[in-house]
Amino acid sequence: MSVIDLRSDTVTQPSPAMLEAMARAATGDDVYGEDPTVNRLEAELAERLGFAAALFVPTGTMSNLLGLMAHCGRGDEYIVGQQAHTYKYEGGGAAVLGSIQPQPLEVQADGSLDLEQVAAAIKPDDFHFARTRLLALENTMQGKVLPLEYLARARRFTQEHGLALHLDGARLYNAAVKLGVDAREITRHFDSVSVCLSKGLGAPVGSVLCGSAELIGKARRLRKMVGGGMRQAGLLAAAGLYALEHNVERLAQDHANAELLAEGLRDAGFCVEPVQTNMVYVQMGDRAHALKAFAAERGIRLSAAARLRMVTHMDVNRSQIGQVVEAFVAFSRK
Ligand SMILES: *Cc1c(COP(=O)(O)O)cnc(C)c1O
Repeated sequence: MSVIDLRSDTVTQPSPAMLEAMARAATGDDVYGEDPTVNRLEAELAERLGFAAALFVPTGTMSNLLGLMAHCGRGDEYIVGQQAHTYKYEGGGAAVLGSIQPQPLEVQADGSLDLEQVAAAIKPDDFHFARTRLLALENTMQGKVLPLEYLARARRFTQEHGLALHLDGARLYNAAVKLGVDAREITRHFDSVSVCLSKGLGAPVGSVLCGSAELIGKARRLRKMVGGGMRQAGLLAAAGLYALEHNVERLAQDHANAELLAEGLRDAGFCVEPVQTNMVYVQMGDRAHALKAFAAERGIRLSAAARLRMVTHMDVNRSQIGQVVEAFVAFSRK
């Protein structure tokens, strides 16, 4: 029985063609700056997203951490969503390792932060307060795409208030594909952007931080400090280059599969939130654990949250979506 794993888009296996690209990769010692494949990936993504420089790192958590630490020093503050990955799911790294105070704000229904609330949270220049330095947004945010018009407003807002603007773009390409725009239309509003290659793009490992040459210079020093300086990392960068070339446009299929799943579950009477990209949220309440066990017996791996998140990706096809809907129907009739 082939397993259908909807817990996350991080669960994909590298395809044979991707593995072949990895095996063929030219490598060198990247801490010496001598890995040609890492250098190519960094140059490629910087160019694609409109930045002067980029840095390859093992994880999105490290990419965000280095971005925040390159922008902010000890005793500085960043404003971030209460539900944002950087704040909630990264072990408090910015505070622990960067001595950066987070100022979390509730995320709006559309995934944005209300700029009036952000303005009210910016601390005056007074020695009682931390120095507010940066606003961090996330796109997609729990599968939701931030409107381009909002990003333009956030850019103007941060310029007016002297803040830097960072994007946790773990799923940047899901947002770009959904909007039907070049990813630059999103990234041009930001001072730094973190992109994951290991989510929907299907690489086994890797994220890239993009920014100015000065910012990436700082981040490169910090990467060494936190133990992220890898050696013949071209093996991994090759997977990233392959993913950028072959796996961006196909994200539209994941979005269509998510929509198909949502429709099927709605028809079966489940309470499903509107879908924008590759995430489907269903209200399961106290039935979540029972559903997880029921689905597992049918080869379907789910999380067990009351607000259940299911994520489509390249290792789940359309007919498997049908199997998942059938399992939910069988569960509801139990
Ligand atoms: C997965 C994810 C990250 C971090 O990625 P890791 O590689 O797992 O550290 C950051 N932000 C968002 C929104 C993510 O989904």
